[in-house]
Formats: sequence, structure tokens, C-alpha cells
Amino acid sequence: MDLPTLLELDQALVWHPFTQARTAPPATAIRSGRGAVLTDFQGRELLDLVSSWWVTLHGHGHPAIARAIGEQAARLEQVIFAGCTHEPAVALCQRLTGILPRELRRCFFSDNGSTAVEVALKMALQAGKNRGEPGRTRFLAFAGGYHGDTVGAMSAGVSSDFFGAWRELLFPVDVLPVADTWLGDGTVAAREAAALDRLDQHLDRHGARTSAAILEPLVQGACGMRMHRPEFLRGVVERLRARGVLVILDEVMTGFGRLGPLFGCLAAEVSPDFICLSKGLTGGALPMSLTVATEAVYQTFLDESIHKAFLHGHSFTANPLGCAAALASLDLLLDPACAAARARIERRHRTRLAPLVAASPGAARLRIQGTIAAFEVAAPDPAYGADGSARMQAWFLDRGLLLRPLGNTLYLLPPYCITDAQLDAAYAGIAEGLERHFSA
Ligand SMILES: *Cc1c(COP(=O)(O)O)cnc(C)c1O
Repeated sequence: MDLPTLLELDQALVWHPFTQARTAPPATAIRSGRGAVLTDFQGRELLDLVSSWWVTLHGHGHPAIARAIGEQAARLEQVIFAGCTHEPAVALCQRLTGILPRELRRCFFSDNGSTAVEVALKMALQAGKNRGEPGRTRFLAFAGGYHGDTVGAMSAGVSSDFFGAWRELLFPVDVLPVADTWLGDGTVAAREAAALDRLDQHLDRHGARTSAAILEPLVQGACGMRMHRPEFLRGVVERLRARGVLVILDEVMTGFGRLGPLFGCLAAEVSPDFICLSKGLTGGALPMSLTVATEAVYQTFLDESIHKAFLHGHSFTANPLGCAAALASLDLLLDPACAAARARIERRHRTRLAPLVAASPGAARLRIQGTIAAFEVAAPDPAYGADGSARMQAWFLDRGLLLRPLGNTLYLLPPYCITDAQLDAAYAGIAEGLERHFSA
């Protein structure tokens, strides 16, 4: 297909996600990807600085992952997962439970981050009933949390403000504040104490009726890469645990080394009742997700009655191709070279990006955690998707940099294979952008 035909058909037939088609520029048609580089239909190269919506770990077109998918496709591409099982799924559960906190044992497969969250919420509510605490029906979430776009995930992420059009569908969720460190104003400890105080008060009143709390550990992604300290997360988890409130960690974005360590819960030394994993699970090659629960939660579902079972499933549960991709991606992730690459990226952010942001009057509040770096830009309009961030995005795209600002938050979340030279090229583009277009 030639490019004009492709774009014409795209505009006529395709409904793109998170896009106002009336005002958005035509989509960029990508033909291929290799490592951190995407190539469009005109042969122009784009540096993928957002890991294609936070999913790509080891780069595009990784030969080991491609080979694993191809070999698996020739052997068994799909099979019903109720009553049947297969080696890629079992091997993946074995590998994953070997690197997650010890208590997380039982792996439930679904297809994306939102469904991983839905599954955790549904399991938590039912677990309360199964163990004779039917009064635990409330849910707790944290301000700024984003957990996906299905109805339960929207309810849990209600504070993110994306969901006005569907207010009538959402169930009520209690929302408490997070003590961000990124404000960088020297009041972190006081704000942490205040937020934990609010949590104590809330739990005094509603703890016994709360089923579960859900949060993104250490970095809240979609609300603008807001970061909090491990100390704060530990304080939250301790308090929830003391009241019998189940803890759901949404590591859809933070998992698989994104923050440096393999998982946010390991970085913060907390052990949840559920962890939700998706984006990086297959290295970004195929859609798949996991909700991993403790053995204690699982045991409450065992009974003579079918009604205590978890009656939930998806057509493509534990798709063998996804499992094969995930196993190949884990091999790459657990190679010491990958940890070294993640550490190198973080170092580069600190030594090259930090001085540049510090020197720019148009940028502030740089925060770095593992491979993620984010800062605020003095762009004209702070609203998500508003003109300012769209123009910023278009300007960078013209320079071969695929960035996707969240409102005024400009962030880099690159695949781990990105080279220092590629990072430096990105920083140089950002420096130019800040200087010429986005300073106050
Ligand atoms: C992206 C994301 C989700 C939703 O995942 P999808 O695969 O887009 O449904 C949930 N939680 C977090 C923290 C995310 O970043």
C-alpha cells in the first residue's frame, strides 16, 4: 500500500485511541522497528522515547522474541485455558513467581493492564465474601492513580479526571492523598506524615468495611510521572495490612525493570496481596497480563461449591504466543547486561539531562527513577491533550523524536536497548525545544 492510500483509509476507517480526530494531525505511518528506532513509510527514523506506550523493553523487532513467537506459533498458537494447560504458561508462572515477592504465588492471566486490575478488584471483593467478611465492600485508591479504561479500572482511577463521560457507570471508591516527592520543596516528610494521618483516620472509620486498596508503587505514571518515596509506600502498606485491607499493587507500568529494580514492590520492600502486571510482560511484543495473588487469597476460593470459585475468564487467557514472548523477554531481562543497561540509562539521565533542565528557565521539577525521567515544561496550556502539549509533540516528531507529553509533563521512558548516543540526541532535541519554544 502506498502512503497516501494508507493515510486516506486510516482517516476513513480507523478510530484511534485517546485521539480527537478533528484536531489531531494525521497519524504517523510506521513500517518497521528495530531497537529504539521506528522507521516510517518515507524511510524517516524516529527514536521511540516512550517505549511505544510504555510496553517495549528490549527494543522493537528483537530477534529472540520474534523467534520464540514464531516457533510457538508453529507448535500451538492457542488453546482453551479452562480444563487445559500448556508448557509456556506453566513455565512462565514458575519463572515469574521465582522473581516476585515470595508470598505472590497464584497467577491469573488476562489480556491487558485494565483487565489485570479488574481481576484483582473482583478477586478482592469475592475473597472477603468467601472468608466470611461480606461487609468488606469499599475500595480505596490514591489521588492521581490511573488503572486503566474498563469500568472497574476507571472507578479505581476516578481521580485521574479522564472519565467524566462515564460517571454514571463508576462505582464509588474512596480516594486519599499521596505525598509526592517531586514537588521538591523540602516538605516531603511533613506531607508524608499528613497523608498517613489521613489514611489512619480513614481506616479508623472505614477500615473494617474496606475490601482492598489499589495503588501504583513509587511512580504514578499517567497522571504525570509523579513519584513518592519507598518510606511512604511502606507506611501505607503497613497500615492497610493492620486493618485486614487487601493491597493491590498496580505494576502495569512500573514492572519489569522500568524503575531499575525488577519490580516497584521489590524496590520498596513491600509485599502486596495482588500484583497487576502487563505492559512489559511480553517485552512489548504481544498483549497479555497477569494478576498474581497470594496463596492465602487463593485458598479462600477453594470449596465444594462452584460459587466460591472465581468465575471469570477471557477467550485468549494465557495465549501460548504471549507466554512464549514473555519467557523470551524474561531471559533478556534477567541477563545482567539488562540491569547494567538500566543503570546506564539512569546515570545518563542524571549526568546529561539534569544539568540541561537545571539550566533551562522553561523547565522545572526534574525527577528520575530508574529508566524514567520527567520534568515540567512552561508550555501555554496545562490540560492533557490541549494545544500546548500537542504542539510540543508535533515539534519533537519533526525532529525524529517520538515523545508524548502528559499535559506539561515531558518524560522519557525509553526501551532498555537505547544507546548513550541516542539518549544524547534526545537530550539535544529537548534542549533545543526548551530554548526555542517552551520557555515561559
Ligand atoms: C497503562 C496502565 C494500565 C492499563 O493498561 P492497558 O493495557 O492500557 O489496559 C493500568 N495501570 C497502569 C499503572 C498503567 O500504566
